[in-house]
This record gives sequence, C-alpha cells and structure tokens, in this order.
Amino acid sequence: MTAIVLLGPPGAGKGTVSEVLVAKGFTHISTGEMLREQIRIETPLGIEAKKSLDQGKFVSDGIAMEMVRSLLEAADSNQKFLFDGFPRTLVQAEKLDESADALGLELTDVVLLECPAEQLIERLSGRQTCKQCGTIYHVIHNPSDVTGICDRDGAELESRPDDAAETVRKRLEIYTERTAPLIKYYRNTNLIHTVDASRSIEQVRDEVAEKWDSLFHD
Ligand SMILES: [Zn+2]
Repeated sequence: MTAIVLLGPPGAGKGTVSEVLVAKGFTHISTGEMLREQIRIETPLGIEAKKSLDQGKFVSDGIAMEMVRSLLEAADSNQKFLFDGFPRTLVQAEKLDESADALGLELTDVVLLECPAEQLIERLSGRQTCKQCGTIYHVIHNPSDVTGICDRDGAELESRPDDAAETVRKRLEIYTERTAPLIKYYRNTNLIHTVDASRSIEQVRDEVAEKWDSLFHD
C-alpha cells in the first residue's frame, strides 16, 4: 500500500487536485467524511468523536489515527491512497510514521498547496456587489462575465470585508496554527512537493495532471 498526503488551506483547491489524483488511480480518503459516517452510524469511535466536536474541540489525534488504521487494515495491499485532512497535526504525522511499517504502508509524497491568506479570504468570502444596481455576485460561485464589472449595467463591483471574511480568517488561522509544524516536519523529508495554488484552479489542475509523472513518484 502507498499513500500520498494532500495538504493545503481551505480554498486552495484541494478538491480539484483530489479529482486529478483520483483519475490517476488514487483512492480518496477524507477523514472528515469518514468521521461524519462514524458519527452517523454511532460506532464507539463516532460517539467519542462527537463528544469532542460538540464541545467545539477537534477530534483527538488518537481517534484520527484509529480511524485511518482501521481503514488501512481492511484495505487491499495494492491500493494507493490519497489522504485529505489527515494527518492534520504533527502528532498525527508521527503516529502515521510509527505505524506505517506494521500497516505495510509507504508514504510516497506530500503535496502542499500554497496560497497567500489574503487571496484565500477573497476566494472564500468573495462576495461582490454592484455599486449601481446592487446585484450580488461571487468571484467563484457566481462570477460576472467580466471580472469586476456588473453584467446588467457595466458598473463597477465592490467587495467589502464582512462577517464571512472574519470567519474565513479564523479558519485560516486555525489551519496555520495546526499545520505549520506538520509542514515543517514534512519539509525535512524529501517527500514534499509544493504547488503554487495562488494561480487559477485550472492552472493548478493542469500542473498536477501534466507534471504528475515527472514531479511526483508514480
Ligand atoms: Zn449593476
């Protein structure tokens, strides 16, 4: 079994990169989805995890590792996994390394999507309003035909930092706080590949797709 780890802040395009890698034969493992399923079917793990989440805490490193361990123990030995959302902390990364041999798992690559926080905030909170008619757009989900210009009357669109931006900023701060030590840990290995995710989603997708064979291990 092999696995690659996909790391990146919210809004950096992990979903798009995941799609590319799934097309290359990887099985996408989202620990967030796994967790929601465990909670839904009320496994002992799910019940314990729900307690943490209800208290506004993250699930413990132990629970995260247990979930991945049980998945890997049941997996075919020739499978290639893409971990998305795991490891999320330095402790989880260390636990994964410690367990890798016993699980028959080789971690081959860490793909790190990098993007400046300001740009992520703009993407995630990217609401734009027409100064003239008040029509609301979103830079990603509902863009105007011409960037920054209203489709209806050609007036300028304005974006304002709002509550959404504050929420996004907090999410990014938590991400940075929790993953910075993890990124440092992987930088000390030769596994890490940095992808400039400040470019368009299409450019990021194409880079990962086209350069996969030369940039990354097969
Ligand atoms: Zn308008």
